[in-house]
Amino acid sequence: MNFSIDELTQQVAHTARDFSLQYIKPYVMEWDEEQKFPLHIFKELGKLGLMGAVVPEEYRGAGLSYTEYVHIIIEISKVCGSIGLSVAAHNSLCTGHILAFGNEEQKKKYLPKLATAEWIGAWGLTEANTGSDAGNMQCTATKQGDEWIINGTKNWITHGISADVAVVIARTGEPRAKNNATAFIVERGVAGFSGGKKENKLGMRASETAEMIFDNCRISDANRMGNVGEGFKQALYVLDGGRISIAALSVGIAKGAYEAALQYSKERHQFDQPISNFQGISFKLADMATEIMAAELLTLQAADKKNKKLNVTKEGAMAKYYASEVAVKVANDAVQIFGGYGYTKDFPVEKFYRDSKLCTIGEGTSEIQKIVIAREALKD
Ligand SMILES: Cc1cc2nc3c(=O)[nH]c(=O)nc-3n(C[C@H](O)[C@H](O)[C@H](O)COP(=O)(O)OP(=O)(O)OC[C@H]3O[C@@H](n4cnc5c(N)ncnc54)[C@H](O)[C@@H]3O)c2cc1C
Repeated sequence: MNFSIDELTQQVAHTARDFSLQYIKPYVMEWDEEQKFPLHIFKELGKLGLMGAVVPEEYRGAGLSYTEYVHIIIEISKVCGSIGLSVAAHNSLCTGHILAFGNEEQKKKYLPKLATAEWIGAWGLTEANTGSDAGNMQCTATKQGDEWIINGTKNWITHGISADVAVVIARTGEPRAKNNATAFIVERGVAGFSGGKKENKLGMRASETAEMIFDNCRISDANRMGNVGEGFKQALYVLDGGRISIAALSVGIAKGAYEAALQYSKERHQFDQPISNFQGISFKLADMATEIMAAELLTLQAADKKNKKLNVTKEGAMAKYYASEVAVKVANDAVQIFGGYGYTKDFPVEKFYRDSKLCTIGEGTSEIQKIVIAREALKD
């Protein structure tokens, strides 16, 4: 694997960084306090091609590689984890599912709108009682003639209220049976589909997380993706790629917290010297820098395999598991380096600290990643 960053990747990262510093950074705390989902930002990111990063140009995407996409998420998340999370969910989950499993008609219909952010996407797998155990879903889709009737509620869905289109995985077979789920594309405005409760969260507060409610929601069979019964398998494939983007989100948050702490440690004086002179602080910085680099390399390695269209189940889980735990640890250490000031909202590290925790939970908890990694390792 080549670790040097080529010119295109540098340009893409530069674009994401510049945009984030100019249009996101000044409003980060306002959106966080108000739990405001800043829709206009995603529309602007769409104009830059960052909402359809890996979508081929024929569907109006940017046609970039997963490596470039990882750099986009890192740069945005260095400034705001919430925006990073929403960009990741839109690109990897909803758009990624249609890109991987939609038929040509579905791709032509939905990908251009999603890639340009004319439409915002959501992806619904989780339910109130089935998170890690997503295969045990209760939301059902029942065939009636040429239509499917969806009933049930999906919880914790990024853009559950604001999305214009959602991919939903619903049960089409018996509970706990093999191959009992199917994926559907549901457009906002269809009768029986509505947004529900918006979650009031610890972090990632500018990324909307809400219920999606299906109440006798009728959709055409033309909106089914792939064969009946393939939905859960498709979801696992989508999550393999999605986990690389959560790893990138984690790396971005860790870098943001680390850079703030590094700077502060040089400026803050105690005992007549910068606190960075104290080994207790400088060793923390050394650990943070090393762990961030290790997390980034794992993430780029997984992205490289994804570019080569190889299976990334193990590498995606490893990157997500390690990088997310690093993000939480680094953000915690960053607050410690800031001392009392780190505990206030006047400095950025408390927000990195709150945002980082989502990374060990969303798209499969750390415990679930370890199950996946162990399962894959035991196959070897
Ligand atoms: C901000 C946010 C955004 C999200 N966005 C989306 C989205 O867009 N779409 C979507 O479908 N979902 C989304 N989710 C849901 C997310 O993927 C789930 O929260 C996650 O998979 C964990 O499920 P759970 O919350 O039900 O926890 P549970 O599954 O109830 O887990 C609780 C605890 O038990 C542990 N546990 C469970 N099973 C095992 C086991 N077998 N072995 C060891 N430990 C275990 C877990 O690791 C965890 O520590 C989002 C969640 C959040 C917080």
